[in-house]
Amino acid sequence: MATINFESYLGNVINNQIVPTATTRHSKNPATGQPLWEVPVASKKDLDDAVGHAREAFKAWSKTSHEERSKLMVAFAEAIEKHTPELINLLTTEQGKPHAVSGMELSMTATWLKTFATMEVKDEVLQDDDEKTIYATFPPIGVCGAIVPWNWPILLGLGKVGPALMTGNTIIMKPSPFTPYCDLKLGEIGASIFPPGVFQVLSGDDSLGPWMSEHPGIDMITFTGSTATGKKVAASCAKTLKRVLLELGGNDAAIVCEDADISKSMPKIATLAFINSGQICMCVKRIYVHEKIYDDFKAAMVDFTKNNIKSGAGTEEGVTVAPIQNENQFNLVKQIYADVDQRGYNVALPGKVVEGKGYLIEPQIVDNPPDDSIIVKEEPFGPIVPLLKWSDDQEVIGRANSLPTALGASVWGKDLARAEKMARQLSAGSVWVNSHFDVAPNVPFGGHKESGWGMEWGMEGFKQYTNSTSLWVWKKVME
Ligand code: NAD
Repeated sequence: MATINFESYLGNVINNQIVPTATTRHSKNPATGQPLWEVPVASKKDLDDAVGHAREAFKAWSKTSHEERSKLMVAFAEAIEKHTPELINLLTTEQGKPHAVSGMELSMTATWLKTFATMEVKDEVLQDDDEKTIYATFPPIGVCGAIVPWNWPILLGLGKVGPALMTGNTIIMKPSPFTPYCDLKLGEIGASIFPPGVFQVLSGDDSLGPWMSEHPGIDMITFTGSTATGKKVAASCAKTLKRVLLELGGNDAAIVCEDADISKSMPKIATLAFINSGQICMCVKRIYVHEKIYDDFKAAMVDFTKNNIKSGAGTEEGVTVAPIQNENQFNLVKQIYADVDQRGYNVALPGKVVEGKGYLIEPQIVDNPPDDSIIVKEEPFGPIVPLLKWSDDQEVIGRANSLPTALGASVWGKDLARAEKMARQLSAGSVWVNSHFDVAPNVPFGGHKESGWGMEWGMEGFKQYTNSTSLWVWKKVME
């Protein structure tokens, strides 16, 4: 494998070559505000070139065997594992997240890729008799464009690349302009493993995503990002009727029943509210606590957060809440804190901006704000979470289901039959009892309502990267 220099960015990865661009740009380290290395800005021609190579590569790649794809996918995972220390540092440097969370993202990525390598969408026999056999077959779609967000750039990028390649597509990955560094290096690592044109990475500015969604040579867009952008992507893809998979924003409810053991449930709920500074689509974003235990839960959560959820740079030991990734998001989060303040909602644990530490803001717990408050209705994508009181099962299910987003939801309690009964009434792509946030490469993941279209991962996710062909073979016509 070619040596990868993690401190130089000479170009995009097109047809397994590093291709420089006429202009460059950079993003910033969120913990210091300091500019990082210059990265390429892809032109329309770069995209056209990459699409041309991807279309050419598709001809052979779509015909490779499962064994061959699988072998290369495992080799890719192992090559990434060899660079884990550099990638952990780079991810924390560009994204801001604590080292431990960067490590988690890297190890999940290797597990995901190795599991994808074992997964195959096989033909299904729908009917087989003397006269005919009817198969459902699943050919690849063609050239995919992966559009990736800044919060989890490695796993969410390669979580698209793996299924697309294993099902026989070629793919062009576009990182967020806020976090292009790791994804470009993953492109370089991939270039030493996959045939030219199979996996390419283009970094650009705000024009690149729209160019991809409207490009007639791209057959499918697989997008993860905000609901607002997802709607634009869907509208743009409609013009060429290209396939589109959308993984969008969430505002997950966790419902805590009165029989929940606070000492066992609360630490996990609080951690999953504040992990990655709340910048994960499936963080716990609304915590509904039964009125009988509300005060005890609140006191315990404030205590736990004060003593266990440390704020600081991602490079500091033991930090959970690291700086917000970028200035735009930091300003949005600050507006949500300001709205809570201006409207006079009770605050159980106040958080403030930490001066001199980049975009760092401490965790805040809001005490029973109204259901129509911004902190309840909008996804904050920051370390702030409301606690909300409830008294009746149907009432809280209605409130949990009341928003246009529906990505994940959970119910916590000792009475499993009741908790499962409640869970089955929650509208979301993933629902957990006594947990939240569990994901796995073999389990489909996605959202209902405005949280997305289609599921990623699992066999259902693999099928999103395929067309469906019904193949009728008549056996005796020529006899
Ligand atoms: P974003 O929508 O701002 O950007 C996502 C990507 O889209 C970036 O690569 C961006 O450059 C690109 N983009 C922007 N405008 C575009 C356009 N008009 N056409 C095509 N591409 C365009 O999202 P973000 O701020 O990077 O990520 C945060 C959001 O993503 C949150 O809402 C979060 O909940 C959501 N998210 C969802 C999931 C999920 O799996 N459901 C996972 C992670 C994040």
